[in-house]
Amino acid sequence: MRILVTGGAGFIGSALVRHLLANTAHAVLNFDKLTYAGSLTTVEAVASSERYGFVQGDICDAEAVRAAITQFRPDIITHLAAESHVDRSIDGPGAFIQTNVVGTYTMLAEARAFWLGLDATARTAFRFHHISTDEVYGSLGATGLFTEETPYDPRSPYSASKAGSDHLVSAWGHTFGLPILITNCSNNYGPYHFPEKLIPLMIVKALAGEPLPIYGKGDQVRDWLFVEDHVRALQAVFEKGEPGRTYNVGGNNERQNIEVVRAVCGILDQMQPRANGVSYSAQITSVPDRPGHDQRYAIDASRMREELGWHPQETFESGIAKTVRWYLDNKPWWSAIVARHKADQRRGLAA
Ligand code: NAD
Repeated sequence: MRILVTGGAGFIGSALVRHLLANTAHAVLNFDKLTYAGSLTTVEAVASSERYGFVQGDICDAEAVRAAITQFRPDIITHLAAESHVDRSIDGPGAFIQTNVVGTYTMLAEARAFWLGLDATARTAFRFHHISTDEVYGSLGATGLFTEETPYDPRSPYSASKAGSDHLVSAWGHTFGLPILITNCSNNYGPYHFPEKLIPLMIVKALAGEPLPIYGKGDQVRDWLFVEDHVRALQAVFEKGEPGRTYNVGGNNERQNIEVVRAVCGILDQMQPRANGVSYSAQITSVPDRPGHDQRYAIDASRMREELGWHPQETFESGIAKTVRWYLDNKPWWSAIVARHKADQRRGLAA
């Protein structure tokens, strides 16, 4: 198949591009604006493939989207391009509305125009797969899981913009019959994660000998999903999922943020002990909490398991060890980003 991936130079999109080129016979067109969060270094390993193409473009630019779609003629559009960092959405919500809401609308309008021009067989086989977050469901108490039926209750500008985009995608399915799929996943982690996000930020700061900033008490719970498990789930959904349906993807790995940071420190203590022999966890420091910080997210992924036969292959312990190893082995990749984008700066205090 021919798969157009938006946001394919970002963290999850690039993992999808690498996975598709390494493990399937699909052709891939990567459409990405290359914002601060995108880099072609993430796809260098597969960029020489004859089945790979790249277009630098903005999903809000209808003409650019139309040109990419009509030239590439995708069977599947997997839409991952987005502004993705909650803290940045507190400092500057406008970019999130523009890219996540207006950009998704533009993708839908152009996908529909292309889809209407297909013959009946191709029209039935076409899929628009929108990648979203469990944060659209709001915040859980100590118990319970998000299912595909959980009502939307977004709390941050980021999650509100993603909820808006999910509703648009759903509307294009109901109203226009576009064969859409939506996946809502939990927190991803793994190689090529931009070092402003919790896990890579902690690795980078630990190795620099800097304080490891924990928001508030660090007792917020997330369900951690190894990015390569996620992209295997995405492939299962666009190949086998039922149009019109939502699928929740989670890793069955609930951890408090403080537990995650201690785990990172414990692995670093083994793989690259500090010269003075003291654990990296001595660097852990509490800082003011994120305004509106959701307490707990947890996913019920039984639809993915039962209907599509997908389940995560990594435990948190195996995934986090692979991740820390990758950051230790790929310092030039992340140190250049930290220097260029001040990725390790505190953001989102709503000051
Ligand atoms: P990311 O920030 O690492 O990458 C986003 C990519 O989109 C970048 O390559 C960027 O250049 C590109 N992009 C941004 N604006 C664009 C625009 N206007 N036009 C074209 N390209 C643009 O994000 P990620 O972590 O890889 O997340 C990918 C998707 O998955 C997003 O839709 C995000 O909401 C969703 N998601 C992420 C997580 C997570 O844990 N990372 C969890 C749930 C859902």
